Amino acid sequence: MSRIAYVAGQYLPHRRAAVHIEDRGYQFADGVYEVIAVVAGKLVDEEPHIVRLKRSVGELRIPLPMGEAALKIVMREVIRRNGVDNGIVYLQVTRGAAPREHAFPKSVKPTLVVTAKRTKPPDPKYGRDGIAVITIPDIRWERCDIKSVALVANVLGKQQAREAGAYEAWQVDRDGMVTEGTSTNAWIVTMDGAVVTRAADNAILSGVTRLAVLDIIRAEGLQFSERPFTVTEALAAREAFLTSTTADLLSVVSIDGKPVANGKPGLLSEKLRSAYLAHTGMVV
Ligand code: PMP
Repeated sequence: MSRIAYVAGQYLPHRRAAVHIEDRGYQFADGVYEVIAVVAGKLVDEEPHIVRLKRSVGELRIPLPMGEAALKIVMREVIRRNGVDNGIVYLQVTRGAAPREHAFPKSVKPTLVVTAKRTKPPDPKYGRDGIAVITIPDIRWERCDIKSVALVANVLGKQQAREAGAYEAWQVDRDGMVTEGTSTNAWIVTMDGAVVTRAADNAILSGVTRLAVLDIIRAEGLQFSERPFTVTEALAAREAFLTSTTADLLSVVSIDGKPVANGKPGLLSEKLRSAYLAHTGMVV
């Protein structure tokens, strides 16, 4: 089945799908995006993704190019046309195409792109053995709560992780506190069993997976705290893990080459991982 993309009002073959060279997403990274998982044909946590999209465009003062109901129809149509049973939907909204000038153009239509693709399940070894992270300075701007397409700092960080043989890079702010990964949220479990993740301030993206895992933690009556933590605290923790739509929940077993606890996935992370996978509808 050949891939089809929705681009500014049309369903087009993927290889011919394009936006204008003066699209502000291309020239200024003036746009936002969402990635939503599809499990057994269903969108996982569609509502919180839409809520976050509306917040992101609102913060950038970009009008949503169509109503929410229409957007949901387009996403389903792209899923259908691409025969996606398990995979992801990618959605991007930019301010639109206009002659290049920094200030907002007077009359411009926002560009909406929706794509979907099948994905293979992540390598089971990540879930089984856990993953390694490195730490890097957080060099991003002060509005990481907006899911902006301006991801070059994240791109450089992820590449640095890859070159170090790690799965992810945890970014550290000027106060020595972990903000988040380049495409994931960061968590630890303290020695007294409290789950800790940074509060959803402007320094991190409020992950939809993060919210789902916090709901599970609350429902299970587990101890938790939304506060920043240092790398030293993470290295002294009982467990560490990360979350995102595409990674789901993975145990972090080493940080900068040093083991977290005994260097094996922790029991609580494994329990939360199973509960999260069940929540998405993935077979555990
Ligand atoms: N932080 C950043 C910087 C991200 O790019 C992502 C993935 N979009 C996340 C956290 C995790 O968010 P989610 O759980 O909504 O995928």
